[in-house]
Amino acid sequence: MENEDKYVKNIEQFICSREPESRSARLLRDSAQRLEISRGDLQQIEKPYTFIYQRLPVEIGGEVLNVSSGIVLHNRARGPYKGGIRIAPDVDIWETNELARLMTLKTALANLELGGGKTGIKVDFDKLYQGLKDKVKVPFYPFMDRLKDHIMREFVDHFVERGLVHIYIPAPDMGSSGREMMLFYNKTHDPSVVTAKPEGIEGWLPGRHEATGFGTAYATLKYLENLGRDPKKITVTIQGFGNVGSHSAFYLHEAGCRVIGVTDYYGGVYQPKGIDIPALMDYARENRTIKDFPSKGTLDNAGLFALEADILIPAAGGHVIDRDNCGGLGVKIAVVEAANMPVSYEAMEMLQARGIDLLPDNFINSGGVIASELEYRQGMGGIRFSREEVFEHLRMKFDDMFTDMLARKKDAGSFTQAACDISLERIYQAMRTRSLI
Ligand code: NAD
Repeated sequence: MENEDKYVKNIEQFICSREPESRSARLLRDSAQRLEISRGDLQQIEKPYTFIYQRLPVEIGGEVLNVSSGIVLHNRARGPYKGGIRIAPDVDIWETNELARLMTLKTALANLELGGGKTGIKVDFDKLYQGLKDKVKVPFYPFMDRLKDHIMREFVDHFVERGLVHIYIPAPDMGSSGREMMLFYNKTHDPSVVTAKPEGIEGWLPGRHEATGFGTAYATLKYLENLGRDPKKITVTIQGFGNVGSHSAFYLHEAGCRVIGVTDYYGGVYQPKGIDIPALMDYARENRTIKDFPSKGTLDNAGLFALEADILIPAAGGHVIDRDNCGGLGVKIAVVEAANMPVSYEAMEMLQARGIDLLPDNFINSGGVIASELEYRQGMGGIRFSREEVFEHLRMKFDDMFTDMLARKKDAGSFTQAACDISLERIYQAMRTRSLI
């Protein structure tokens, strides 16, 4: 109890808001018990080091919008804070906090010399467009691109002014991409200030753009191989067809899996014999959505989740599978968390009871940050990695993570808990070595 007062409550008291119960916090508590880490020490690892709130005033259509952004610097025991920038209507400080904590766990699981952080920028482009379209008189996508550009320039100015360069290294997350990362480079002319820079920009890394999807597919295939399952007989459904969803689909399709259903924010595609994924990627690139691609009837998220398939890959937002919809999932072998935090703790337990594996986010989608670490080192040291070297490095990292997780799975009870045990042990060790706890 005395530790609770000492560590847990101070942040919550300051912002007058309690952190909602989260899966990563519950997993960490379970792991700490097994690893005999005290509650006080655990809280030093579980809780973020810093929250930064930043208002971003931007002018559009003759009006000034005040956009809210928050940076959570969670833990830097093993290296600089690292984590993506999420631009979405529903971000809040606790979600950003959990995503930052997840990054701390993810970088440790992959044994990278990085810590964990995250940025959330709260903006609803659809809603703003409805209110401003008569004034701005441009179609939706140019409106969104221009506004995002203004917001990010404002964000980058504050980022630099606050001295976060080299302390926190951003990357893309939902709603952002290499285009936004380039703005950090434009401002600083420093290739190591940000990762996932677009092709041709000083310090860009071949393969970084596809790395998260490549890693998702590679890890899924490795898991199937371990089960003795032939990829050519595997069916897959995917929620989200952005960077991660589309590249996961591409590499699984290339390995012979049949991707039968995909949804994005605007619509869905169902083809029981398998979707032509390269054609869908071309279509999505052209139209910025998969809506109206040839499909056997309409498909929404509920329909996608209910489809019978061997593998279900949530690759969009978080919190999409919970105790309410878990019972209706049509998945037969495993849920593969390409998105961050798509499955609740209760749903995780329900899946386990049904004999369905959950391959956790901090393992599955770590390809992006693994490649980012190479890009960061490349930016610092001036060395160059080829695309094949990047993919080979990803394969090696995923092989190591899978071996480590398999070795711990029996004791921990699941891949998810095994991954958490490994991460917690490494972070705890680093903090002890550095006399931080
Ligand atoms: P993105 O913005 O490129 O794509 C998001 C996709 O999800 C889009 O196709 C969008 O239409 C779709 N989507 C959004 N809301 C949806 C909804 N309600 N229903 C169905 N589809 C919806 O984002 P991304 O970079 O591909 O990230 C996807 C997920 O992967 C996020 O959870 C992110 O945190 C995680 N992730 C991304 C990376 C990376 O390198 N980009 C790395 C690790 C984890």
